[in-house]
Amino acid sequence: MEIKRGIPVSPGVAIGSAIVIETEGIRIPRRFVDKATANAEIERLHTALREAVADARANQDAISEKVGKQYGAIFAAHAMLMEDPELVREIELLIAQKNHSAEYAVSRTMRRHAKALASLNQPIFSQRSSDLIDIEKSVLRHLVGHQGDPLQDLQEPVVILAHDLTPSETANLNPKFVYAFATEAGGKASHTAIMAGVLEIPAVVGLGRFLMDVSGGDEVIVDGNRGVVILNPDEETRERYLVLQRQFGSFAKRLDELRDLPAETKDGARAALMGNIEFPLESNHCNDRGSDGVGLYRTEFLYLNKTEDPNESDQYEAYMAVLRSIGPTKPVVIRTLDLGADKLFRAEQALDEKNPCLGMRSVRLCLRNLALFKTQLRAILRASVHGNVRIMFPMVSTLMELRQCKMILADVKEELEEERIDFNRKIPIGTMIEVPSAALMAEEMAKEANFFSIGTNDLIQYTLAADRTNEHVASLYNAGDPAVLRLIDLVIRAAAKSNIEVCVCGEMSGDPIYTILLLGLGLRQLSMTPQNIPEIKKIIRSINIEEANLVAQEAMRFETARDVNNYLREQTRRILPEAVVN
Ligand code: PEP
Ligand code: MG
Repeated sequence: MEIKRGIPVSPGVAIGSAIVIETEGIRIPRRFVDKATANAEIERLHTALREAVADARANQDAISEKVGKQYGAIFAAHAMLMEDPELVREIELLIAQKNHSAEYAVSRTMRRHAKALASLNQPIFSQRSSDLIDIEKSVLRHLVGHQGDPLQDLQEPVVILAHDLTPSETANLNPKFVYAFATEAGGKASHTAIMAGVLEIPAVVGLGRFLMDVSGGDEVIVDGNRGVVILNPDEETRERYLVLQRQFGSFAKRLDELRDLPAETKDGARAALMGNIEFPLESNHCNDRGSDGVGLYRTEFLYLNKTEDPNESDQYEAYMAVLRSIGPTKPVVIRTLDLGADKLFRAEQALDEKNPCLGMRSVRLCLRNLALFKTQLRAILRASVHGNVRIMFPMVSTLMELRQCKMILADVKEELEEERIDFNRKIPIGTMIEVPSAALMAEEMAKEANFFSIGTNDLIQYTLAADRTNEHVASLYNAGDPAVLRLIDLVIRAAAKSNIEVCVCGEMSGDPIYTILLLGLGLRQLSMTPQNIPEIKKIIRSINIEEANLVAQEAMRFETARDVNNYLREQTRRILPEAVVN
């Protein structure tokens, strides 16, 4: 049994058999076979080895001819290794003595050696280690035959283990067949992590290197509440997790009973809990969880899996689908395109930028591409007569940018007016506050916007200069950092001064340890992944606003994120001992 610790990004506990995507997604169909079939398994092994050796020799010839003998020699070495009697004997023994299937025995053996070489931490040996993984792939391919796209063709539920998954790969996972996933890379607020929450798949990211310690078919536990992944658990651990899984399920069920109750403190302070969505269908998740509307519709996901940009009518239809589901009165905040950084869905969309997060993304991209921007604004305005639609601009860094966005919106309104197309002339206009410059200028911004939405995912990243998707700086990337809290406080105060609404729509709003603090800072609107709504509502319904104010005052006095978080964790546990706090 091996225990790995990473960053929990989507709650829930799952136990299942692993598929390791690093092995080019080759799925090991079974780990163990009957003792009686050991000889047949060894025969299969030899056939696959012969075929893989033939491939390596063919590669050797082709590469030697194309680029020179010294490169062909790499494949000659692969062939020699696959014929190495000691290595083959080791694999045979696992089959004969431990009843491993040929696939599992190959994977275990190659990974054991690859890991030993990699641990020497010298470039020459890590190259050899990659060669062993290459050989593993090649032999496995011959053993299992063609399997198609490993993520799409799942036939039975698995736990996906990968170095990293892109947001679009994650969005395409079928929750029916994916119990959970765990990745070596990734950070708390990456869009991959957000997608896991959307699909309600338990997930842990940022585990660091561990794929060499695991083979496809191994049993794995993913604890998305605590950020723990356990490879090949022993019986006692397995039992313990089965109990935890049941407890988590029954806690979630009890929270379901709050669905139709308001998010109101014991002394009557009312908060609005809204849902973040990426696809129109998720409006149903918001309704199922009793949300007060959609606080953030990430419309850039309309671009996912599309070879061409969605046109005005595609966009209008998507917005209408959301409005039909949410109804005519609850607010639906449609955010204009926030493309760029880790949300580029087509390779050709990428500009050659050294720092895409600091580059041409989001509203900057729209202001440079007015046709794209205006098409979307037309679609939003046309939909605005059918519900409580609000429009929101992302990544606004300066007052000038906000003014430019509003000017383009005014142009589009004029066009619609001329075309006699109906729209809500008083559509509320909001700006996200997710860049420190915007937070610092919040008082001025508040005079020119009808509402604010604090995007803590980016605000944390830009305040602490720590990439939200990078596991190496995950300890810096912290919502509880006093610098972040001071900016949030500033924005809430600025909104209050101009009497405009303010919401938090980053992942922080769905993290139970920050609920009391945010309420105490004066926030009355939170927008989050819908599955987090019931737990946050439970916390709100368990406190007095006086208490929350005191907690916020105390939390603002600490000097480090660690002290802030420890204090808030303690306070949250005191109020709701079952809360999932990390
Ligand atoms: C944010 O940055 O907090 C946010 C809500 O937007 P996104 O996660 O889409 O960047
Ligand atoms: Mg953002």
